[in-house]
Amino acid sequence: MEIIEFEHPVARDILTSLRDRRTCSEEFRILTYRISLLLAVESTRNIPTLPVSVETPLEETLGEKCENCPVIIPILRAGLGMLDAFQEVIPSAPVSFVALRRDEKDAKADWLYESIQNLNRRDVLILDPMLATGGTAEQVIQYAIDAGAGSISLVSIVSSPEGVERLRRFENLTVITASVDRQLDENWYIRPGLGDFGDRLYHGKSAKC
Ligand code: URA
Repeated sequence: MEIIEFEHPVARDILTSLRDRRTCSEEFRILTYRISLLLAVESTRNIPTLPVSVETPLEETLGEKCENCPVIIPILRAGLGMLDAFQEVIPSAPVSFVALRRDEKDAKADWLYESIQNLNRRDVLILDPMLATGGTAEQVIQYAIDAGAGSISLVSIVSSPEGVERLRRFENLTVITASVDRQLDENWYIRPGLGDFGDRLYHGKSAKC
């Protein structure tokens, strides 16, 4: 497993606003979109391209077109917050969905839904903004491997050191994250973290908006 901690001043700026408890849902969604755009650019660095010729208004020249874009797999519900940005960067990528529910007592996740087809050696990008215990990510990664995935990238906004360690056994995996935070707490929240990502995206709670 390779880990890429994405380093960029704009990403650090956005992450600081995401962490801020006063950031309301409307702003949180926009910030999630913006940081996901940066992570999407980083995580699509190795997409293969085909050489093509193109006519500019002045002459013919050689260009490149992306081929075989990875399958995007957002983990519901929080992963949905990252999807639009990834589709903006790779609009022709197919999307499959998975939904798991984490039991708050033991942090184990049960499958609720999946729409992953036979992946046939295709690369995949799994979107999960909070890599916490790593239990859910581990199950989805194993499912993608069993469905025939090529290389797998897990894209998170904030990760815990414990979650990263748990995924080390996967050889063909790259974890791309904007931050590896300090630790998981006794309730499996990432510290300092940013709280419950899905709630902050969708509950519409508003401290200042
Ligand atoms: N999921 C979240 O939304 N936040 C955490 O801190 C951990 C898991």
